[in-house]
Amino acid sequence: MNRIGQGFDLHRLVPGRPFLLGGIELEADVGPEGHSDGDVLLHAITDALLGAAGLGDIGDWFPPGDAAYKGANSADLLATVVARLSADGWRIENVDATVLLEAPKLYPYKAQIRERVAALLGLTVDRVSLKAKTMERLGPIGQGEAVAAMTSALLKSPT
Ligand code: MG
Repeated sequence: MNRIGQGFDLHRLVPGRPFLLGGIELEADVGPEGHSDGDVLLHAITDALLGAAGLGDIGDWFPPGDAAYKGANSADLLATVVARLSADGWRIENVDATVLLEAPKLYPYKAQIRERVAALLGLTVDRVSLKAKTMERLGPIGQGEAVAAMTSALLKSPT
């Protein structure tokens, strides 16, 4: 049986923060504000996986008010969820993602991000898709004030 899940995340971009996306640091003057490292792509993927398995959302698993997750590495959070899915017998079929970001351009980082995400998910790179869109300078994302990600994930259940 297949189960589909979707995820979304958005973080404000502020000066003085490293810009982590998909576990890769982008060269930029700003970075995502957040209790954790603010990696919208990994957060949205984590939510899509949890959604597909009917296991709640990233906030249920790692409450933002919990001091244990202050400055948390999102790759570690994702790894925790991937381990749980694996323990429950789920297999990840594929993940598809769209990142909404005005700058920097994602093109030079796409291959590296796909490889990193695939490694975190235990998948081959062909099962991890990454698309990048700008917002044509419209709205907060278009004005460079935020970054967002939308994702889908397909899981195959043990039975
Ligand atoms: Mg987030």
